[in-house]
Amino acid sequence: EMIAVDVCVIGAGGAGMTAAIEAKAAGLSVVILEKMPMAGGNTVKATGGINAANTPLQKQLGIADTVESFVADTMKGGKYLNNEALVRTMVENSADAIAWLDSIGAPLTNLSFSGGATFKRMHAPEGGAPIGNYIVNTFLNNIESNGIDILYNTKATEILMDQGKVSGVLAKGKEKDYKIACEAVVLATGGFGANEAMVEEYDKKLAGYKTTNTPGATGDGIIMAQDIGANVVDMDQIQTHSTVEQENSIMITESVRGQGAILVNRNGERFYNELSTRNSLSNAILEQEGSSAYLIFDQQLREKLSAVESYINADIVKEANNLSELASDINVDPDKLIQTVANWNKTITEKGQDLFNRTTGMETTISKAPYYAIKVAPAIHHTMGGVEINTKAEVISTDGKPIKGLFAAGEVTGGIHGANRIGGNAVCDIVVFGRIAAKSAAEYVKTH
Ligand code: ADP
Repeated sequence: EMIAVDVCVIGAGGAGMTAAIEAKAAGLSVVILEKMPMAGGNTVKATGGINAANTPLQKQLGIADTVESFVADTMKGGKYLNNEALVRTMVENSADAIAWLDSIGAPLTNLSFSGGATFKRMHAPEGGAPIGNYIVNTFLNNIESNGIDILYNTKATEILMDQGKVSGVLAKGKEKDYKIACEAVVLATGGFGANEAMVEEYDKKLAGYKTTNTPGATGDGIIMAQDIGANVVDMDQIQTHSTVEQENSIMITESVRGQGAILVNRNGERFYNELSTRNSLSNAILEQEGSSAYLIFDQQLREKLSAVESYINADIVKEANNLSELASDINVDPDKLIQTVANWNKTITEKGQDLFNRTTGMETTISKAPYYAIKVAPAIHHTMGGVEINTKAEVISTDGKPIKGLFAAGEVTGGIHGANRIGGNAVCDIVVFGRIAAKSAAEYVKTH
C-alpha cells in the first residue's frame, strides 16, 4: 500500500509521539510507524521524572536553579564526553518542554532531586508518580484527538533517497507492505539495548547481559540511517543498571541502596561500595560467584520506601523473621551473613571508615525484623550512543553535512548524554528534541 504524507515518524515512543504532535500542529500531514503492537517503547518504563531548569514550579518552591548548573551537572555526569552544544540546547529548552507538557494535558507538580543534580529539578506528576506511563497516555490522547494515524505492527525497513534527499520509507506490516512517500522522516526508534548482537559488537564485556529495555529497542533506526550515510557517535557507551531482578527484569531502584541496603555475595560477604557508579558496581557483581548478588535490608527500610511494596507484590523478595532464616532462604552461610550485618551496623553506629569506602546511605542500621533479600544482577539499561545530530535535530552524514530531509530525536541519537546518562535527562531529551525535530521538519518541508 502506498501512503503519501509530509512527514513519516518512525517509532511511537516518547520522542516519536512528541514529534508527531508538534509536526501536526505545524500544519504537516503525519503518519507514525510502530513495529510493536502498542506505543510507548522504553519511555513507558521511565519511573522518574523530567529534568528542567528555570520552571515556574521551581520558582514557586524557591529553587534557584540555572541553565549553567543544569548544563554543568549533565556534562559532569556524562564524563565530559557529551556534545556540549546539544546539552545546551536541551537545557535551554527544558522549561518550555514542561510548559508544553502542561499545555497538552500533562501538568507536572512534583519536584525532587535526581542523581547528580545540584538543585531539585526532576519534575514528576502529582505525588511523584512515574512519568513514563503518564506522558505516554497523554501523547496517545493527543494523537487520537488530532487524527494522527499510528500504524502498529509495522516495521520500517528502509529509508528511501532520491537525488540526495529523503523521499520515503519502506515498511513491513502484518498483512501488507507499505511504501510511505514523504519529504521528511523523523527517526525516533529508540536505542539498541535489547539487541544482544549489537550490544556485544560495541562492548564485548556486555555479552550475555539481560536488559531492562522493551523488546523493540533493537537499534533498527541506527542501521537504517547508517545505510543512507549517517554518522554514529559514542556507540560503545552503554549504561548498565546494577541491580535488576533477572527473572522478571524488574529494576530495583538505586534508592534501596541509597536508603541503606547492602549487597552480599554467595559467601554472605559484602564486596564493593554499593553506591559506586553503575558500570563499576555492575562489573563487581559479575565477578562474584553466580554473577549475581543479594540486596539485604530490614523493616525500617521497607517503611521508608514505597517502591519496596511493589517488589513484594511482584513476589521477588525473600522475607524472614531473623537473619539466620534469611540466610538459609538464599543459600548463604547464616554465621557469615550475621557477621557481615554486624560489621556493617558497627560501622554505622561508630561512624567508622567503611571497608569499601561507602559514604552514603548509612543513616540506619539493618536491625529491625523482618529482614529482606532480593537477588539481583546487572542489565543493559540505556545506550548513550546513536546517530549524530546537530542542534536542529538534523541527522549528520559521515561527510559532516546534514542528510536532507532526515531528522532524529531520542535514544536513537548520540552525543547528548556522553558516557553516562543521568536520571531525569532521558525524558527531557525526548521531549525537547522531539519538538525540535518536528519544527525543523516543518521548516524543511515548507521551504522545499
Ligand atoms: P525514545 O525514548 O527515544 O522515544 P522509545 O524506546 O521510547 O525511544 O521508543 C522507540 C519506539 O520505536 C519503540 O516503540 C519501538 O518499538 C519503535 N521502533 C523501533 N524500531 C522500529 C522500526 N524499525 N519500525 C517502527 N518502529 C520501531
